[in-house]
Amino acid sequence: MREHVDFFGAVVTAYPGDADHAPLLEDPVHARVARAGDVVEGDLILAAVSLRGADYFNDQSIAHPAPYDPACQCGVCCHLAHEPGPVVVLSSGRPWPTCDPWLADALVLIIPAQPLLARTTKE
Ligand SMILES: [Zn+2]
Repeated sequence: MREHVDFFGAVVTAYPGDADHAPLLEDPVHARVARAGDVVEGDLILAAVSLRGADYFNDQSIAHPAPYDPACQCGVCCHLAHEPGPVVVLSSGRPWPTCDPWLADALVLIIPAQPLLARTTKE
């Protein structure tokens, strides 16, 4: 079965090493940039990515995507209700009490739950 995969160029120039940032607990060679809309259950979310670079979170988190509900009462979803593009929820209630909504086209640095390398490096 063919599978469409988007790749985004990313140049890693430095890893944040201070206590305010999540450590790259997993092998960073598996980290890749993905659209928030393409994140799947179990992906490890490390940072938001923009043209300014990677904004590492204080804690990495495991994605548990859920449908976005602009009428959700968590207190965060409502802030994205008037965004022009589609919104996805990367987690709700785990590990935070609120949802974690993102614009579907926003870029996020993840370690995929199913590394692409695992499918192609067997020779
Ligand atoms: Zn919510």
